[in-house]
Amino acid sequence: MTVKVDRGKCISCFGCVSVCPVMALKEKERFPECDPDKCTSCGTCVKFCPAGALTLVKGEKK
Ligand code: SF4
Ligand code: SF4
Repeated sequence: MTVKVDRGKCISCFGCVSVCPVMALKEKERFPECDPDKCTSCGTCVKFCPAGALTLVKGEKK
C-alpha cells in the first residue's frame, strides 16, 4: 500500500512526514515520498494534508 502525492497540489509543508505513525513518508526532491513497504494505509496523512494532495493507492508498488 502506498500514498500518491499530487505535486501540483502539494505545498511542501511536510506535515504529513511528521504525522505518519510508521515514518513511511520521507522528503525527496522537495516533495514527500511514501515507502510502500512501511505504509499501513492508515489514512492519517491523507486526512491531515491541508492541500488535499495525498491519495491512498491500493495494490501499487510505486
Ligand atoms: S501534508 Fe500535503 S501539502 Fe504538506 S507536504 Fe504532505 S502532501 Fe504536501
Ligand atoms: S497512510 Fe498512514 S502509514 Fe501510510 S504514509 Fe500515510 S500516515 Fe503513513
